[in-house]
Amino acid sequence: MTSKSLYTKLRSILVCPLCHGSLQPDAADQALICRDCHRHYPRSGHAWLMLDPQHPLLAMYAHGGPSLPPRSWKSRLRGLLPPPEERLWTRRSRRAIVRALQQADPDHPHHVVLNLGAGLERVFEQAFASYHSLIRFGLPHTGHVDVIADARQLPFRDASVDLLLSSSVLEHVQHPEQAVAEIARVLKPGGRTYSEIPFLRAYHMAPHDYQRYTISGIEALFSRHGLLCEEKGICSGPFTAWALLIRDTVFHLTPTRLLKMAGRALLSWLVQPIKYGDMLCEDAPWAYHLACNFYYVGRKRK
Ligand SMILES: [Zn+2]
Repeated sequence: MTSKSLYTKLRSILVCPLCHGSLQPDAADQALICRDCHRHYPRSGHAWLMLDPQHPLLAMYAHGGPSLPPRSWKSRLRGLLPPPEERLWTRRSRRAIVRALQQADPDHPHHVVLNLGAGLERVFEQAFASYHSLIRFGLPHTGHVDVIADARQLPFRDASVDLLLSSSVLEHVQHPEQAVAEIARVLKPGGRTYSEIPFLRAYHMAPHDYQRYTISGIEALFSRHGLLCEEKGICSGPFTAWALLIRDTVFHLTPTRLLKMAGRALLSWLVQPIKYGDMLCEDAPWAYHLACNFYYVGRKRK
């Protein structure tokens, strides 16, 4: 359930994603209406549906999104035996997440912290657990968000956000330059973004998987939109990359769907020890050439 303080915060920063006009609630408080272009943005479950009325995914999210219909046998099975965390995060990246959250202080009444995506990885669940006013948004394939929104058309006011986090989302955005331009627009002067992007990962969530970035590529992407790099590094290293590539190679070579699912579940556990090799090389120069994911912390100029 959306808390009152989170609701108040959200309403203070939400604008029309198309024209950035301010919004007013309808009589039943079930939709927001743009004062300028008069488009309607209804509620969908507990979330605001802030998509262009012509958006191709509008119908999918109009009734609460893909996570809300009755749970499939697959999700029930995963609930009984949760798979291990896909990646191993480096100590540096975990410290960077905690530090960014402490600096931004999501529960301060005048601070706004956004997470792009549902933030379901245990690393993020743990980091977010002590905060009550962190706003989750995006077009998730699973999990709860407070605002259903496209990263290319953010429904947030200019210069309204203290920190925007995103983990393994930008590779799924067809036009990442537009998404990063939007992140830069909504950050307050001096506001930060913490972003993770894969470098060596198999093609996944097909066909919505569009790019990979090197360590220099991430910095160049954000600097083209005026952000200054405060910190960057390996988020999950070469051993995590190898472990996941072994698992995914076997998955794709396995003939039937049932065998694929069983093999993937088993291999998720079998490859787990390999990932711990990352603990020995998180600052090694060679590891930057073969890492699974990189992280980047950027700041908007004051
Ligand atoms: Zn509008």
